[in-house]
Amino acid sequence: MFNKVGPKVNFVEIEKKWLERWKENNILSKYLERNKDSGKKFFFLDGPITANNPMGVHHAWGRTYKDLWQRFKNMQGFKQTFRNGFDNQGLWVEVEVEKQLGFKSKKDIEEYGIENFVNKCKEATLHWSKVQTEQSKRLGYFMNWENSYYTMSDDNNYTIWHFLKTCKEKGLLYKGKDSVPWCPRCGTAISQHEILQEEYHELVHESVFIRLAFSKTGDGLFKNEYLLVWTTTPWTIPANAMVALNPGLKYSLVSFEGKKYWLASNRVEFVFKKDFWVEKEASGKELLELGRYYKGPFDSLPVIAKAKKENPEAFHRLVSAPDLVSEEEGTGLVHIAPGCGAEDFRLAVKELNYPEMVIPAVDESANYLEGYGGLSGKNAKENPELILDALKEIENGEYLFKTEEYTHRYPVCWRCMTELIWRVVDEWYIKMGPIRESLKEVASQAAWKPSWALNREIDWLNNMSDWLISKKRYWGLALPIWECECGSFEVIGSKEELREKAIEGWQKFEGHSPHRPWVDEVKIKCGSCGKAATRIKDVGNPWLDAGIVPFSTLVNPETGKVSYLTDKEYWKKWFPADFITECFPGQFKNWFYSILAMSAVLENKTPFKILLGHALVRDEKGEEMHKSKGNAIWFDDAAEKMGVDVMRWMYVTQNPEINLNFGYGLADETRRKFHLLLWNVYNFFVTYANLDEFKGRKDEKLETGNILDRWILSKVNNLVNLVTDFLEDYDAYSASRAIESFVNDFSTWYIRRSRSRVSGAVEDTKDRDNFYSTTHEVLLILSKLLAVFNPFVSEEIFKNISSEESVHLQDWPIADKQMIDTELEEKMAFLRELVEMGHSKRRTENIKVRQPLSSLIVENSPHELEEQLVGLIKDELNIKKVGFKPGKGEVMVKLDTEITPELREEGEVREIIRKIQKERKEIGCGLTQKIEVGLPSWPEGFENEIKKKTLVEKLYKAKSLEIKRCSE
Ligand SMILES: [Zn+2]
Ligand SMILES: [Zn+2]
Repeated sequence: MFNKVGPKVNFVEIEKKWLERWKENNILSKYLERNKDSGKKFFFLDGPITANNPMGVHHAWGRTYKDLWQRFKNMQGFKQTFRNGFDNQGLWVEVEVEKQLGFKSKKDIEEYGIENFVNKCKEATLHWSKVQTEQSKRLGYFMNWENSYYTMSDDNNYTIWHFLKTCKEKGLLYKGKDSVPWCPRCGTAISQHEILQEEYHELVHESVFIRLAFSKTGDGLFKNEYLLVWTTTPWTIPANAMVALNPGLKYSLVSFEGKKYWLASNRVEFVFKKDFWVEKEASGKELLELGRYYKGPFDSLPVIAKAKKENPEAFHRLVSAPDLVSEEEGTGLVHIAPGCGAEDFRLAVKELNYPEMVIPAVDESANYLEGYGGLSGKNAKENPELILDALKEIENGEYLFKTEEYTHRYPVCWRCMTELIWRVVDEWYIKMGPIRESLKEVASQAAWKPSWALNREIDWLNNMSDWLISKKRYWGLALPIWECECGSFEVIGSKEELREKAIEGWQKFEGHSPHRPWVDEVKIKCGSCGKAATRIKDVGNPWLDAGIVPFSTLVNPETGKVSYLTDKEYWKKWFPADFITECFPGQFKNWFYSILAMSAVLENKTPFKILLGHALVRDEKGEEMHKSKGNAIWFDDAAEKMGVDVMRWMYVTQNPEINLNFGYGLADETRRKFHLLLWNVYNFFVTYANLDEFKGRKDEKLETGNILDRWILSKVNNLVNLVTDFLEDYDAYSASRAIESFVNDFSTWYIRRSRSRVSGAVEDTKDRDNFYSTTHEVLLILSKLLAVFNPFVSEEIFKNISSEESVHLQDWPIADKQMIDTELEEKMAFLRELVEMGHSKRRTENIKVRQPLSSLIVENSPHELEEQLVGLIKDELNIKKVGFKPGKGEVMVKLDTEITPELREEGEVREIIRKIQKERKEIGCGLTQKIEVGLPSWPEGFENEIKKKTLVEKLYKAKSLEIKRCSE
């Protein structure tokens, strides 16, 4: 006997039950161990999850995929590492801890103490790692959770040291000046990879038009002619070094309120509106020749006076920059401050006496530096009115033409949403030029799914600039760079090397992880001058942490050490990973990029063979989910309300290229369309099998003469092939859709057409047992296929109908070729089309299916259907006779709709049987409960049929239908 099932089901309770039972019976460890001696290997490389928050439903998509293919390979007998990864280091953790502690700036951290702060960060990320582990278990994700890797581990950090030393040896590592996007709150550069489209916000800034008196030679003779210059970042005006124009544009000299202004001809109307006249026109090229020097409003500030004195030829000059200057907006004359803008900086490098012309304006918190007079020490971003006030004051507003509100898309810090500024700073970089080609080659060695993903990656690789790897922060990889005051620097590649070279501070460091502040204590002897070299204070870009994992996480179990560094032979057995899967689009620039780059430098080989990317999770309306918008769905809530099997099914049945509109509505639909359909089939089987005391198949080989059985067995074996092939091709979408379609056939055709084989007291017990054997077999196979997608409901079904320990310890099913009968499947498909046509004819004629009809003729039939198949048509359509006329052309059915008295009587009998069955249900009769029934009348000669089909012991005359149970 199987456990009783019933039509009502609570999937969430089932899931919780199995989580408990798996724990009790050590199913997970048995699962992890089952292929440990296998010669076949499969290496799934996990991209580490940021351990900084509870898991969101969007994480569950990727994790469903990760679990799915590891389960598939496990059932197929592959040995695996089952290592989950946590990303623990970096600014994201710092920002959360800062929030927790109520910190506003880096000063607060310094006062709190770096050691205390770093310990807090470790604590926070370990806490979230635990939370995410529990949530992943709830998802049914089978991993070796005890053996998760952490990017903050010594293994990870020292392997990055090794990587950076390799970069140094290859001449790829350098310290450079660059204009970088900078968050003044976090006090650090934001690397190019980290600014996504989403991090541009629509912001309103006060834009400023300034007028700059301009002369031909810089001799101080100004002739009441001004350059009219426009900027959206007035805080940068003090650091102005030049004005750019486009030599290809037309410029006008416009007379307005007693002054004459140069600006692009196409902008004149827009800027002046009325009461102006154009004195003359000149091309940008001519304007350049006409005059080149101008006066700036802040020339008297010490830092500007100094720059002007040092570079009289170059400073405050009109320059040509056709790429930078358009007449779309502004005045066609662009303010250039190379110390405060990326394009400005590049222009300075190209045009001017770089680097002297790059005048830094603000410090890391956006406070004006020394040398800016009254501005020094004041915050440029917090006090935007500073500059406007100054412009109003200087020479009574001589330089200020007007201000105007301006709305534009402006980048903000992805962590704290503070507006970014641009600063020129010393940072550390990895050169991309020399490795760009090999990086592209390495990326092309792997298979990318979907295939356009490779082009996206190549596109990024073509355009990316050098990799900015330093951050002026606290919690992260300690960049292993020791700098000496003599100007040379050294990169340390391992802990051992550091110990060897240490001349000071080793005791303070020993016993600690290689993090700040402990590692900062160690000083080494400078290789050039012999003085003590100090570690730079910077920490690393977090994508170094995640990018190294193909090298740092393969650990030889015999030594417990990172095999890449200590046991290359072992490492080579696993590398490259067979499979990775993460979410598009962010990872093109992040994880995919960083593992490729690090692999290109270390091994010049792809770190993975197959990459599967998936799109994003949106809310049900297709909008981005946000905590602040209130439309975010938490994983825990979703698991509790919809259940994780339903959630997982939503993910696997989604085309990974398309964003998923996730929500409870879709969950209900998914449950109804798939899980409940499956449950009903399962319930039907168990209920009747128990009733008839089905004890399982007696013979090893399932042999059944019933054509429906043969058909569904053929279908299920074909399904095994389909699902296997799709999964081998990393296509969960097609695989799960094939299962859905199968379950639909199974329920709406096989089971429905087989109902009469079990209900009541059937005579043909052999056929009945064949039905049970077949359905049992199908459910066993189906639950094994389903195990990788839906670990809970598959276990629920499998465990109830088999004596095995767990579906998750089963081998992946292999199709029985002998069972596959393609011709039968074709015929059945044809038959179902005929049936559809027949039903449609009945509908148009308005004749219910319960009313038997005499005949159906199929014209132009391409198939000759055998008797059993014809029987199915007869039963389904309630037809006495089916005839076939071969021929060419469109298949047609002809239905004889004449209802003879005999047919009418038969119809009545069916109606009576239907009513009695309905009553039986309503008064709660068990399936074997005998009843007594009273009826006004019934067609003569059908008494036995009625009695048999409805388990009636006594049939008697009554005024209307009455029914009562017999005593047991
Ligand atoms: Zn920030
Ligand atoms: Zn030195």
